Parts: sequence; structure tokens; C-alpha cells
Amino acid sequence: MHIVYSDRYQIDIGAHVFPMGKYASVRDGLVARGLVEAAALVEPAPAGWDDLALVHTAEYLEKTRSGGFRASELALLELPWSPAVAEGFRLMAGGTIAAARLAVEAGARLKRAADGAAGRRLAAAANLGGGFHHAFPSHGEGFCLYNDVAVAIRALQRDGTISRAAVVDVDVHQGNGTAFVFDRDPSVFTFSIHQEHNYPHVKPRGSLDVGLPDGTGDGEYLRALERAMPDVLAGRPDLVVYVAGADPFIEDQLGGLCLTREGLRGRDYVVLSSARDAGLPVVIVFAGGYARRAEDTAEIHIATIQWGAVPGSSVPER
Ligand SMILES: [Zn+2]
Repeated sequence: MHIVYSDRYQIDIGAHVFPMGKYASVRDGLVARGLVEAAALVEPAPAGWDDLALVHTAEYLEKTRSGGFRASELALLELPWSPAVAEGFRLMAGGTIAAARLAVEAGARLKRAADGAAGRRLAAAANLGGGFHHAFPSHGEGFCLYNDVAVAIRALQRDGTISRAAVVDVDVHQGNGTAFVFDRDPSVFTFSIHQEHNYPHVKPRGSLDVGLPDGTGDGEYLRALERAMPDVLAGRPDLVVYVAGADPFIEDQLGGLCLTREGLRGRDYVVLSSARDAGLPVVIVFAGGYARRAEDTAEIHIATIQWGAVPGSSVPER
């Protein structure tokens, strides 16, 4: 599995609940366990301004470039602005575009392979970052400057690489920006499974929203996810974007769901095996994760990548 990563993902946003160090921790963990060779990591280029303009307004992009934000806009973003912050997020958006292309190419390779394995092996690629699903066309919020998920889908559609896409957003917070961008666009199915009583308080309707009660645990969560996946993939998208937030974890500081590490592995299994069995390529991006112990957030992301990276990896313990 191709993995896109840059040391420059570690953006300096000062003291912050968002653990910017997780990107390097995940990278180091994957290399240490032999799941990826450091030399094989793909260094991304920043998303082009023309790519970002497929989703974001010119006025908003100019603000992100020049820092012309009002204090209220920065409060909504919950991020400091600096040229380096803007460039870091632009780079991560480029990473998601690159990983999405690699996932589609992996899918095409699997289809061509004459070993009959297509449909039993997962075609996937990952960006060890991204998933900034709270960014809207004309404003950013909730730590999200650019909606890399929407930008990548639009860029691949523009290039003719894909026609249809599905977003599987399992971050504990609803994917409001992504739902808004693709509202009334039949070419993109947006699915979000999240904690209902949590940020964002206004939740634009996606194609399928499953809002779970506070304290939902592994069993109920996995049943809801299993029920949803056939509908999500029914349109046979050319690409599945897996927004694999680590924050449904029971020890998360910003989430109120109660998934264990085993439950989160089960979640990865349900999403990734559904795509594999349907023969659909998947690009994995990270989104949020605010566990009390930073190592837990990194380990949850590593487990997701491990599922995608190890051919033939099977059902985790449930
Ligand atoms: Zn989140």
C-alpha cells in the first residue's frame, strides 16, 4: 500500500488540543513495525490553488493565503494563522490528492491482475494526515482550513480519474463541511456516523447520517455501521474515502462515544472489508483524535493503516 507522508505535516499551532505530533508518531510506528519502509513513503506536493478552488471560494482562499481573517473567523477555525500554518494544510491537502490517485491506480492494477485475487485483496492508499471535514467552501472551522477530502474528490473528477465517490466518515464529529459541499451532488455519497450531541451543532444533511447517542459502545456502533455500509457502496463508487477519525475512542477528550481499541479495529474491519469485498479502492485519511494519552491516538491510526497495508489481514478479534 502506498503511504503519503511529509515531516512538514507537523504544523506549529502552539499549545493546542490537536496533537500535531501524531503524524510523525504514526510514521515512526509504521516504520518500526516493518509495515512500511521509510524510503517508500511518498512525499506530497502542496495542493495547487486551482485544486483548492474546485471547492473553496476565491475570497476565502485569498484570506488563507494572506491571513486576512477577522478575529471571529479565527475563533471559528480554532487555529492560529501564519503562512506556515496555511502551507502545512495545503501540503496535507496535496497529500490526500496524491493518495487518492494512488488508491485508484492500485484498484486498476488489482483489476488487471490475472490471479483471480481481485475482490479479495484491498486496493488502498493512505495519507498520514488530512481528513479536515469541517472546512466549508467559504469558511474554515474546527481545526480545518481546507477540506482536503472534497478537494481530492473534485480534483480526481476534474481529471477524469473518477466519476463517483463515497465518503465514509467515522470521525466522532459529523462531517459537516463535506456534506455541505456535496449537497445535491448525486456523484458523491457522503456518509457520516458520529455522536449526535456533539460539535458541529448544525449538521447539514449528508447522503446518510447516523447520529449515535452519547456513550454508544462497540456492539451498537458496529451493528449500525454494518447496516449502513451496503447502502454507502450501492452506487459502486470509483473511490471510497475513509475518514478514519480516532476520536470515537472511549478515552477521547472531545468525543462522547465509548469505543474500545478492539471496537475501533472492528470498525476498520467493517469499512475496509466492505470495500475490499465490493472491489472498490479506498483512500485512508486521519481526521481527529484527542485521546488523553497521545500514544492511544497514534496507535488507533496505526491499526487502521495496518489493516490496509497487510495483504490478507483478516477479521480482528471482536
Ligand atoms: Zn473529530
